[in-house]
Amino acid sequence: MADYDAVVIGAGIGGLSSASLLAHQGLKVLVVEQSGRIGGCCSTFERNGYLHDVGASIVEIIQPIEKIFTMLGTTFQNEVDLIPCDPIFSVMYRNGERITIEKSLEATGEVISSLDKRDGERWKDFCNYFSELSEVTIDALFFDPADNMMDMMALIRKNPKLLKFLPTFLQTYQDLFLKFFSSSKVLNTMAYQSLYMGMPPALTPGPFAMIPYTEHTGIWYPRGGMIKIPEALLRLGQKDGLEIRLNAPVEKVIIRNGRACGVRLEDGSEISSKIVVSDVNPQMLYRDLVGLEHLPWLIRRGVNSLELGKSLCMIYVGLDAKPDLEAHHSYIAVSMREVNDFWTDHVETGVMLPAEKNYGLICWTSHSDDSLAPEGHHVLNIIPESFYRLKDGNWDTFKDQFVEEYIDYVSDNLVPGLKDHITQVISSSPLDYERSLRLPEGALYSFNQDLAHMAVFRPSAKSNAIKGLYLCGSGTHPGGGVPTTTASGIIAFNKIIKHEKL
Ligand SMILES: Cc1cc2nc3c(=O)[nH]c(=O)nc-3n(C[C@H](O)[C@H](O)[C@H](O)COP(=O)(O)OP(=O)(O)OC[C@H]3O[C@@H](n4cnc5c(N)ncnc54)[C@H](O)[C@@H]3O)c2cc1C
Repeated sequence: MADYDAVVIGAGIGGLSSASLLAHQGLKVLVVEQSGRIGGCCSTFERNGYLHDVGASIVEIIQPIEKIFTMLGTTFQNEVDLIPCDPIFSVMYRNGERITIEKSLEATGEVISSLDKRDGERWKDFCNYFSELSEVTIDALFFDPADNMMDMMALIRKNPKLLKFLPTFLQTYQDLFLKFFSSSKVLNTMAYQSLYMGMPPALTPGPFAMIPYTEHTGIWYPRGGMIKIPEALLRLGQKDGLEIRLNAPVEKVIIRNGRACGVRLEDGSEISSKIVVSDVNPQMLYRDLVGLEHLPWLIRRGVNSLELGKSLCMIYVGLDAKPDLEAHHSYIAVSMREVNDFWTDHVETGVMLPAEKNYGLICWTSHSDDSLAPEGHHVLNIIPESFYRLKDGNWDTFKDQFVEEYIDYVSDNLVPGLKDHITQVISSSPLDYERSLRLPEGALYSFNQDLAHMAVFRPSAKSNAIKGLYLCGSGTHPGGGVPTTTASGIIAFNKIIKHEKL
């Protein structure tokens, strides 16, 4: 008799999504989490009265999150106090000019027209095109498995409108933007969002050029911090008997006769279960927790060929005054070319961009939710562009100087007086993320999110090598992001219900 029906490795959004659904189905479920906190990259920590988000700082395209709460018998809005963020973002040009983009499509059209009249006219065409594309692709691609070609054919049979948009999958984010807009000032307000997919515009698959449109359907921040989403999933799961153990790192998935039948923790204890669900990076799962010796050669080859994706350095800042910013998110204006070149000239060579040429995002979470800091105080997440592999030295020796120089640049050139009001600075380098969350190379979406790593090319939700082993999280379809990893948890749950007698 097994201790549990299912053991879930990792209390990230993917793991808690599948775990809460399995518990709601009446199954005996245990989540084991290596760290002392739930939520993984979608979490929040407190330091000296300031609440900082570990990674994710916003949710958009929330249909998968709404869906899981409905499946759990409630609603997202009932369980989490969602604050709508409007304006959506502001763009900071290096000459000191700024523009602010509101949720309203009309107001945005006017801003774009003020930058370039013709592009302002094309904004409406852009919105119409991506409104239709997002309606078709979000429903089709987020909720069904894409483990193999049969799944893909079933997906197209179920959503024949997808065929109309198939050519966009062969184009890039950049191709599609250049079809609609020509002014560099306009293009420079929309290049950065390709990094929401973890890829530069020249490599991001075309459908994701919908992001600068879908942001206008709403972006939200959970009052109290991003951790409120995993907390709600855990709370609902616990009502159905879900158990969780923190500070319980899994060392091995126990495999007998080709079937996963439990886990061994690093303290040597063993927990038996009828199935195992993994929310950790799939390459790490197969190489370290399962062992490549258990995999047929073809799958071993596939696992080894996966390329880890983008990582970054996060700077958590506490302030004793309101910063000179306008919106939850502010980007430094950047061209598609600069973002593409960063990949070839810097990520590949390991030579960091100097602070004055770096670009990135400033996330002002306390603009949306003033409960995150003591009265009159604020919190920012400052995110310069960066990567894991440095040519010289490593992040432990490089981080402090990198953070200091970037804050100096931002304070002297973009957010006047910022430095005078800083009360605390904490930072997490790609190496820190690797250590604290066991994200290999700090890769925030596990793998690249180009065509070669999407859908059937991402590891399957139902392991093809080990019976009784299921995968969810950003390393599986439909990829990284809080809503998408929620969707991965739903997909893994559906696979389990279909294939296992528990
Ligand atoms: C800096 C950053 C910014 C981001 N910004 C956004 C954003 O604004 N909006 C958005 O939607 N998404 C954003 N994302 C992406 C999003 O947060 C992630 O894709 C998503 O939260 C990943 O969830 P997950 O369940 O796949 O994995 P994770 O969050 O990585 O969770 C996996 C869990 O498994 C645990 N674990 C690992 N190994 C073991 C082991 N051996 N034993 C037990 N437990 C283990 C880890 O500790 C972790 O808690 C961001 C990510 C980062 C890092």
